Amino acid sequence: MFDTLKKVFGFEDFRPNQEAIIKNILRKKDVFAVMPTGGGKSLCYQLPAKIMNGTTVVISPLISLMKDQVDAALENGISAAFLNSSLKPREMTAVYRTLRSHALELLYIAPERFALSDFLETLKNVPISLFAIDEAHCVSEWGHDFRPDYLSLSSITGIFPHIPVAAFTATATPRVQDDIINKIGLRAPYIVRASFNRQNLFYQVKAKRRVESQILEFLGEHTDEPGIIYRTTRDSVVNLADFLTDHGIKAVPYHAGLTPGVRKKNQEAFNKDEVSVIVATIAFGMGIDKSNVRFVIHADLPKNIESYYQETGRAGRDGEPASCLLFFGRGDIPKIRYFIEQIPDEQERSIAMEKLNHTVRYASHNLCRRRQLLEYFGEDYPAENCEACDICTGMVEKIDVTIDARILMSVMLGTGQRFGIRYIIDIVTGANTKRISEFQHDRIKTYGAGRHKDKNHWRFLVDDLLAQDVIYQDGDRYPVLKLSEKGKDVLYGREKVIGLKREEAKKKQQAARGSEFTPHDEVLFDKLRVLRKSLADEQRVPPFIIFSDRTLHEMCRRYPATLPDIAGISGVGDAKLERYGNDFIKVIKTYLEENPDNLIQSGQSYEISACPARNKTKGETFDKTFELFKQGLSIEEIAKARNFAASTITGHIEKLILTGHDIDMDRLVEPKRRDEIGKLFLTLQSWHLNPVIEHFKGAVSYDEAKFVRAYMKNHRLLKNSVFQ
Ligand code: ADP
Ligand code: ZN
Repeated sequence: MFDTLKKVFGFEDFRPNQEAIIKNILRKKDVFAVMPTGGGKSLCYQLPAKIMNGTTVVISPLISLMKDQVDAALENGISAAFLNSSLKPREMTAVYRTLRSHALELLYIAPERFALSDFLETLKNVPISLFAIDEAHCVSEWGHDFRPDYLSLSSITGIFPHIPVAAFTATATPRVQDDIINKIGLRAPYIVRASFNRQNLFYQVKAKRRVESQILEFLGEHTDEPGIIYRTTRDSVVNLADFLTDHGIKAVPYHAGLTPGVRKKNQEAFNKDEVSVIVATIAFGMGIDKSNVRFVIHADLPKNIESYYQETGRAGRDGEPASCLLFFGRGDIPKIRYFIEQIPDEQERSIAMEKLNHTVRYASHNLCRRRQLLEYFGEDYPAENCEACDICTGMVEKIDVTIDARILMSVMLGTGQRFGIRYIIDIVTGANTKRISEFQHDRIKTYGAGRHKDKNHWRFLVDDLLAQDVIYQDGDRYPVLKLSEKGKDVLYGREKVIGLKREEAKKKQQAARGSEFTPHDEVLFDKLRVLRKSLADEQRVPPFIIFSDRTLHEMCRRYPATLPDIAGISGVGDAKLERYGNDFIKVIKTYLEENPDNLIQSGQSYEISACPARNKTKGETFDKTFELFKQGLSIEEIAKARNFAASTITGHIEKLILTGHDIDMDRLVEPKRRDEIGKLFLTLQSWHLNPVIEHFKGAVSYDEAKFVRAYMKNHRLLKNSVFQ
């Protein structure tokens, strides 16, 4: 088990419950597991699929996810395929053929296939190792995603009495749990109910003011990070996406009113890291398995805690830190209440109202957010301080801020209430800017009166005073700060303001995360991310399938510069090591040469662990492919013979050409076409594949272009060019 975990998936340890689940499966026991999103459910059946004899059949409701799952498995060197209505007849036949020849380790199907008799006949004639049912709550009418198709799964245990069945879901109340176990007919299953605590998520609630600018500000601190922003209405989705685009952020909208084509396109752009932000209604969600979502923002109040938990759950699946930010304004309550009032059934209506109240309490109580969420789902949270929410990190302790508020407001008054936040803070902190001296604002009495505290303190205070209506912003494009009536009362000593205590909130937040999540080299991360994107485009898969953020972050802490080093990084299994190891090493090495200080700071040496065995396997695997190719086998035949994905073999051949092996190019690319591709590379003076593919409008495949490129590189056909 551990060997496979390391070799195939590249992980050192199991996540909670994975090991026990897998052991039970290997003992042919049924399993029922409730694990939160990101808990690592797929590994629980993919690992047994690799170890056990026969095919593991995965039943999954989401056709859109199957391809990604299969691609991810193939990347790890697992022989995998899917059967669903999106396949062409020819592709379908090919999958059936592989299945019948016992060459599939993993087969994904949609539930309706289970009702087809000829499919069942085929299954009866191949060895099956396991049935894994994903999103198992779909079988229950009590759940929130009931799918009648799932009912056909109740026949599995009758037809295949000796095969273990493992059911997985991320949402199941005890009632749904019983229902699932009964409907599928699980036989005394091993039951897991994992904690719903998502340790890597930071929960925060902010007072909602001008939410668009607030979001812009947040994005300014999270440049280029992928994230989801939820809004309630289609109009607000479109407006916000436009607003962000106008401010130079790559954002796209997603809602049910867009055509399926546009929705698909936008979702794919997000998946492939081509846009960083997707602004969406709750229509966006099912079918997102992007693991590197770094934040989820709720710009409007969600209807209930269930959806809030589920939507925020899409952040940080890879286990790396991610933020969940909710903008809460009481103004949202009547809108939701209005919709609830339209519900005809009285009981349903009062349940919905109660749920709304819970959400309001969540947002307005000064209680650990995590504890509130978990308690809502009936889970005790033992820790005093969760260290990863705004309440626990002291972002919201209350103190008297009257004096600071007066300083700030007297600056506002002294400058005629004609300036925006940043400028006012500059004066308060006594900044030495040209603009201030031009306006002679360094002469007013309170200039520099707040210099003993940093700008962040003042920025935080401004937000707080805005939230309490002590001051307000006036004007759309260049909003200026003004005093409200309440503000005047404070300024003239008639009233006090109690505000939130900030106490170096930012730093504390970092430290809290630092106890478990160590920082990484951001500059290198950006470089590796670019490389990941280009490899992903070449393979036509989303970037997170190549390597997760977590894996890249670890590289940016340990700077692996040799194959054995990089093999030691979590998430780098044998297949990926072979395919991408050298590409990443190259970038890391160059980076280290340009920035030698980083290595010293990190305290690491180039040699973390020497592991000659691995190198040997690597050499051998190329040799084998070379042998078979020379014997005249096609790429597909080699892939089949060696039990690899064809793309792995293609990668081998590319490397063989690059390293000067005697590969008959005529068998790979027709001579005339080779010539044309070669000329285009010369004309373009670039090794990038995309322009070549585009030029030939699909008549040339990526593989062909890669082979020609490798050939040219090996023969140094571009030796005078700048782009070696
Ligand atoms: P789920 O289906 O439960 O939402 P996934 O199976 O998609 O979760 O796994 C979430 C992420 O966690 C994936 O990026 C996966 O590669 C990673 N992961 C799974 N198991 C482990 C492990 N033992 N160690 C490190 N990462 C893991
Ligand atoms: Zn907390």
